[in-house]
Amino acid sequence: MDYIGHIRYRDKIGSSEFSKTVAKRVDNYFVERNISKHANAEMYFKSVLAVTLWITTYYILLTFSFSPASLIAMYIGHGFAQLFMTYNLSHDANHGAYSKSPKVNDILSRTFDLVGISSYIWRLMHNDSHHSFINVPGTDTNLMGPDVLRFSPGVIRQPNHRYQHIYASFIYCFSTLHWVLFKDFHLFFSKSRFGNRTIVRHDRKDLVFLLATKAFYYCYMLVIPMWYLDVAWYYVVLGFLVMHFFIGFHIAFIFQPAHITEGATYIYPDSDGYIHNNYLRHSFDTTLDFARKVPFANWVLGCLNLHIVHHMYSEICHVHYPDLTEIIKSTAEEFGLTYHEIRTTIGAYIIHLRWLKALGQADDPSVRENDTVATRNTRRHFSAATEMESLD
Ligand SMILES: [Zn+2]
Repeated sequence: MDYIGHIRYRDKIGSSEFSKTVAKRVDNYFVERNISKHANAEMYFKSVLAVTLWITTYYILLTFSFSPASLIAMYIGHGFAQLFMTYNLSHDANHGAYSKSPKVNDILSRTFDLVGISSYIWRLMHNDSHHSFINVPGTDTNLMGPDVLRFSPGVIRQPNHRYQHIYASFIYCFSTLHWVLFKDFHLFFSKSRFGNRTIVRHDRKDLVFLLATKAFYYCYMLVIPMWYLDVAWYYVVLGFLVMHFFIGFHIAFIFQPAHITEGATYIYPDSDGYIHNNYLRHSFDTTLDFARKVPFANWVLGCLNLHIVHHMYSEICHVHYPDLTEIIKSTAEEFGLTYHEIRTTIGAYIIHLRWLKALGQADDPSVRENDTVATRNTRRHFSAATEMESLD
């Protein structure tokens, strides 16, 4: 049963040797080099590049769409420019990781709104819910997919879920289209709970901003090309749909394998709402890295593939993640802990689909044969004993 009360981490960082050591080493990394945890010259370059690509690909869309085929190609190109901006700039800014100035983060966080995604709803969904309580069924919004998909044992299994590993990729293709057209509005106008925050009424200024930025997005993505280009309106709609088909799949391809993966750990708070762990160790246990040794993937994806460090330190700008990942990995090895990693992006996605298959065929595939209730709960809640055992 999902816990619906206030959820807290029972332990402090200092109560775990692993978490304490990682925290100290990460702090030392910045002190020894005398560098900021926020954006550096590389990040400024990426930011300028991201905004430039967003503008120039749109300009190219309006200038070189001579035929339906070229129009669709230009939409896809512009869609990937939008993705580059959100992966590298919007995501960091919304975590407050870009700059030490909240004002700068706030301004840059609005780049999400430029591409049709409400930065306000994103922060509630991604920061307050997902980042705060990874893989906690009923609370982590990442586990709440459409009814046809089952991402956790917290969702009742339906007969069609048996085949979800076959059709999931197709459903993913509609994720961003659904997001820009419906999801933000649905979450805004329904009385939603995000992590420990239950929002009954949103501010009027948030509503005005949501409506204004959505209107801006539909206008430049649909109305202006229909009015300006010398092609039939339905080809513009088709280009828009095909673009979302590609970027919708890509977002799922990158985000889904990081937590919903084979042998994933789902954590259930106890009856008082306590997660039996500390935040750093919980993030480490429930997250997977992939393509760590592929610098191009790190650079283009805004280090979203180095997902463990992102969850442990989302307030730090992603340009520092490759170095910090090595610190976390070597510390984990010292403490005998499993650092969850897959070598390639495609490998991580295949394993994600394998886990969807398992979730479609068993109520709780994380339960192993001969499990007693006690061992299962120990594994789910993570017991400090695991860490002590590995230190021996
Ligand atoms: Zn994040």
